[in-house]
Order: sequence, then structure tokens, then C-alpha cells
Amino acid sequence: MSFCTVGADVGGTHVRLALLTPEGKLENLRKLPRAEVMPDADPCCFGEVLRDYIRDCGEKVTAAAAGIPGTLSRDCRRVLNVPNIPALNGLMLADELTERAGVPVKLENDTVMLLSGDVHRMGLPETGLLLGVYIGTGLGSAVFYDGKPLRGKNSLNELGHFPLPGRKEKCSCGNVGCAENLVSGRYLQALRAEKWPDTHISRLFPAMAGSRELEEFIDTAACLLAGTVNLLDPEVLVIGGGVPAMEGFPREALLRALREKTMHPQPSENLEVVWSEGADDTGALGAAWMARK
Ligand SMILES: [Zn+2]
Repeated sequence: MSFCTVGADVGGTHVRLALLTPEGKLENLRKLPRAEVMPDADPCCFGEVLRDYIRDCGEKVTAAAAGIPGTLSRDCRRVLNVPNIPALNGLMLADELTERAGVPVKLENDTVMLLSGDVHRMGLPETGLLLGVYIGTGLGSAVFYDGKPLRGKNSLNELGHFPLPGRKEKCSCGNVGCAENLVSGRYLQALRAEKWPDTHISRLFPAMAGSRELEEFIDTAACLLAGTVNLLDPEVLVIGGGVPAMEGFPREALLRALREKTMHPQPSENLEVVWSEGADDTGALGAAWMARK
């Protein structure tokens, strides 16, 4: 293949853009304020931002793709629900961006793009079933089968909204008791404010060491992971996001609990777990690879 593609990672606050060269190198990374490049009044003008970015790169670009932090239609052309950028809801965004950017633009959920970025950065297998679980501000998940996102009736893949028994916390999705309310950066922020108000969030795991709260956090995360592993039996489980990258995050304890809770002897004994080497640009990298496919 001798052409470049562009990847965009759309977040509530920032949009990251990057160019993928034919050799698979990521270049020209740009981090732009979302409210400027995708304003609520006319979010589709992001197509012109893409067009100008492609022109500035000075390379032949044949396709682009964008990761969107929300739900898309099954064909990934229409945006259904983006809680952080409601101005996108209902738009035929893929078509609008394609017209304005001058190259075909594909959309996928942003977690799909993260897993795509991890697959290419870490050289993970592109055959069989891959499961990615990302503990960031929220809790996201993605599943690939033979290199493609596994798509159900509504294109959903939402481990974060696994309902937990007996929990009453109201979730951003409108339900109560979703897992995301107990396994996420948002939960840790609230816990810090309540129990460790003098501790900076970056020092929370060292502060929590030995506490009941940490035990419960790991136990809930391991239950969710184990249930999903039992269900899907992945070749590889990728765990990523900002939370596992925090100082003092008890990776070993989580893996131990995960192996304990998955079925024996398989998949417990031969489960392969990798930690995402995710950086700021993983979403844009994954999107650019998605555009190439
Ligand atoms: Zn929910």
C-alpha cells in the first residue's frame, strides 16, 4: 500500500489528529480544542478541519476515520448518542465529513479505535477474538473478531453498563447500578474526595493500599473481566486506560483475582493478558489504521 491515511480521536475536550504513512509511521500529531474544531453550532465543519489538515500534511491521503465517544448506527454512518457532545446526536456525520473533507471518512466508537491502536502498536494478533477493556474516566470495552469489530444488532459493546446487583448509583446512561459507577476514574475521584480529600488523585492507589475500598475495587473489576473472559474466551485480553497506568495500580492483585474468578482449568490457566502501552495518540493511530482497511 502506498498511500497515507488520517486518524481522528474525538473527545469531549480535545480532538487529536494524526497521519499514518505507508510504512506505518504516525506523524503530524495535532491536539486541537474540540469546541473550536467541532463547535456545537456546526459540528460538521470538522470536515473542513480535516480537509485543511490533509492539505497541510502535503501527502496523498486516500481515507480518514474518526473515533466517536458514543453510540453509532449499525452501519456507522449516523451518530445516535454522544453524551459529552450532544450536538452530534442524529447527524449523518460520516457522510457530512466525507463531503467536506474530500476523502472517504469512516466512523467507529472511540474504544474500537483504542483497541485498533493497541493491536498495531503492540503487534497483537489480527486473527481470532481480541477483547479490550479500558478503565479511564469511564469503563469502555471493544471486541475484534479476525481484525474487525464484532457487531451486534445495535453495534453496542458496553461492559461499563453491566448492571450490578444491589447497587443504586444513578448512571450517565439513565439506568442505576451500572459497573462504570464502581470501576472508573470518575468513581476514584469521588472516593478520593470522600475518603482521602488531602491526597492528590495521582497518589490515590498508594494511599488506598491495604484498604477495604481497594479490595472492593479490585474484586469488582476482576468479576467484570472474568465474566467477560468466560463469555468470549479471547485469544488476548488487553487492559488499558488511564486508571491501570496510575502509580501504584495493583496490576498483580487484579491478575491474581482475574485468574481465580475465571473458569478452571481454561481459560484461567492459558489466559493471555497484556497491558496497553497506550499513549495520547493510541486512538488516532487506531483510527488511521481503521481508515486504511
Ligand atoms: Zn449505565
